[in-house]
Amino acid sequence: MKSKLEEIRNEGLKRIVGAANMELLQDIRKDLTGKKSPLSEVLKKLGGLEPEMRKEIGIQATEIKNVFAEMLAQKEEELIAAKSVLDEPLDLTLPGKLPGGGALHPITQMCYDLNDAFLSLGFEVYSEDDISSEKYAFDNLNFAPDHPARQSMDTFWLEGTEEKSGTERLCLRPHLTGGSVRYLLKHGAPARFVYPGRVYRNETTDARHERAFFQYEALIVDRDISFSSGIVMIQTILEKVFGRKINVRMREGFFPFTEPGYEIDMECLVCGGKGCRVCNHNGWIEVMPGGVIHPNVLRSANLDPEEWTGFYINIGLDRLVMMRYGVDDVRLFHSADLRFLKQFR
Ligand SMILES: [Zn+2]
Repeated sequence: MKSKLEEIRNEGLKRIVGAANMELLQDIRKDLTGKKSPLSEVLKKLGGLEPEMRKEIGIQATEIKNVFAEMLAQKEEELIAAKSVLDEPLDLTLPGKLPGGGALHPITQMCYDLNDAFLSLGFEVYSEDDISSEKYAFDNLNFAPDHPARQSMDTFWLEGTEEKSGTERLCLRPHLTGGSVRYLLKHGAPARFVYPGRVYRNETTDARHERAFFQYEALIVDRDISFSSGIVMIQTILEKVFGRKINVRMREGFFPFTEPGYEIDMECLVCGGKGCRVCNHNGWIEVMPGGVIHPNVLRSANLDPEEWTGFYINIGLDRLVMMRYGVDDVRLFHSADLRFLKQFR
């Protein structure tokens, strides 16, 4: 029986070493270690042997089993290392695999398109810190001392500064407009600039209200900027972004930093002005408040209201994106639902 085992061992090792590929090696593995292998047959017969012999043969058989396992693993590694990719049939006409990359959010894309449109009209893109102060967020902008927006139920005041005032009372900027005076103080007039960014409101969140959202504001300051210059500016920008003429209309609106102020509507592009769910069935959609800069704001910026005038617009980015793609629910843009967002790649 000992010589029989020796024969199994030598024969087996010879076959393993000679295996030319993975398929053959699998067959050899089955032959050498399977239930019907000669080695298994020997082990099955152990029970009928004398105890002394049983022990000796058992040790020898187990040793052979281990050697086979080791050699099979080693040979497998050798075969994998030697395998060339060109062994597989290669079809160069198959389509490639698209790498899983990200893409710009449609609102970011709209922001960039607006930047392009404004830059082409000679505007500068300006940004400032998200942290502002009472002076810049309210005092400079003609907000009355008791204006409700100054309360902490509307504005996030920074801890430890709530009891202070002016530039020492700090907040997360509740709107972008504070940046306009900062820019004017630094660069003077005439000036034309946009300042997109995130703003913060201490509100209860619901389907229509977020605690942080993006705004896009533009200001032009010059001599003789008239109300009609403002309209032309808005129409030009919308035409550049949408690639065609867009009808706009203005209604009276009130904002402390404008005199007069307007609500600016554009014709609903989803229904072409006929009326639909997006425009609340009236054919127009409110896209931006705006208006002529208030003399007190010009004074805050050390500019003489007798000499200078200007026009603000504050663009609702998500409204414009809704118009661009005909999306009828604004919440989708903030849902982080990839099934929705992937459509804009
Ligand atoms: Zn509509």
